[in-house]
Amino acid sequence: MNIVDLRSDTVTKPTPEMREAMANAEVGDDVYGEDPNVNLLQETAAEMMGKAAGLFVPSGTMGNLIAVMVHCQRGDEAIMGDKGHTFSFEAGGISALGGVFPHTLPNQADGTLKLDDILGAIRPDDVHHPISKLIILENTQNRCGGVVLSEEYTKVVSKIAHDHDLKLHIDGARIFNAAVALKTSAKEFVKASDSVTFCLSKGLSAPVGSVLCGSREFIDKARRIRKMLGGGMRQAGILAAAGLVALENMVDRLAEDHRRAGELAHGLAKLEGIHFEMGLPQTNMVFPSLGSDVKFKAAELAKKLASEGIKVSAVADRRLRLVTHAWIDDAAVEQTLETFKKVLA
Ligand SMILES: *Cc1c(COP(=O)(O)O)cnc(C)c1O
Repeated sequence: MNIVDLRSDTVTKPTPEMREAMANAEVGDDVYGEDPNVNLLQETAAEMMGKAAGLFVPSGTMGNLIAVMVHCQRGDEAIMGDKGHTFSFEAGGISALGGVFPHTLPNQADGTLKLDDILGAIRPDDVHHPISKLIILENTQNRCGGVVLSEEYTKVVSKIAHDHDLKLHIDGARIFNAAVALKTSAKEFVKASDSVTFCLSKGLSAPVGSVLCGSREFIDKARRIRKMLGGGMRQAGILAAAGLVALENMVDRLAEDHRRAGELAHGLAKLEGIHFEMGLPQTNMVFPSLGSDVKFKAAELAKKLASEGIKVSAVADRRLRLVTHAWIDDAAVEQTLETFKKVLA
């Protein structure tokens, strides 16, 4: 059976070009700063983000944690969305390891935090309160549907942060999806931020890794915290070599993933009982909801689909998530739609 895996873009495997680059990568000890591929990846990533420096980290989760730990001291507060990855999917690391207090605000349907909510969340200088130090935005916003936060909105939030002596971190795990969707460069979306993390291991198909970018001073501090967390890697150039191929070859093609996500959504919308109450995809994520006329709950439907070779995620009682990526071609979209039709019939 031909398996179509739409659970996440993290399931992508390294391309043949990546495997070749990895096999031939010249390496050194990166804790000594001597791995040429890691150094080149960090410079390339920083340049693409319009920042002074970059740091290769094992995961986006560690990148976000390091950013929070550089921007905040223990007991400080970080403002973030209640549907954000840092709040929901990073095992509480900022509190457990950083001693940082999360102040959550409701993510709106478009992925943003209301400006009034942010202003209301920033603490006045008073011994009763923790000290507000950081705002985190997520772009694209995963749980709101892979939606894109505009450059304009980011700039306004950045101004609020800086006017109050806070920093702005962007969890840009899929910032290149945002850039490709709006036909601009990733730089534009993160210009106004103090730091940004993006993933190499999702739509860009590299096997492992993320890059954290910011000022030189920020990255110097980040490097020490990465070491503290056990993220100082040695001949990591084997991985960085794949990351360089990802940045070179895999960014522009994200547009194909977005086209296929749109085709999946349009095809699914034609089926009885499937709705798009979260809206149609802006990037590579498709979130179909199951109406009350569908006899299965999401988890049951996901199981039935899996037994027919289509892997999807159940993200709520009556909602699925399908993510397109480099390993999903037109035939896979077709096969998915046919299988949904068959299982729902
Ligand atoms: C995937 C993801 C991350 C990081 O995930 P890792 O699996 O730790 O690399 C961070 N933020 C968002 C929004 C993500 O989707």
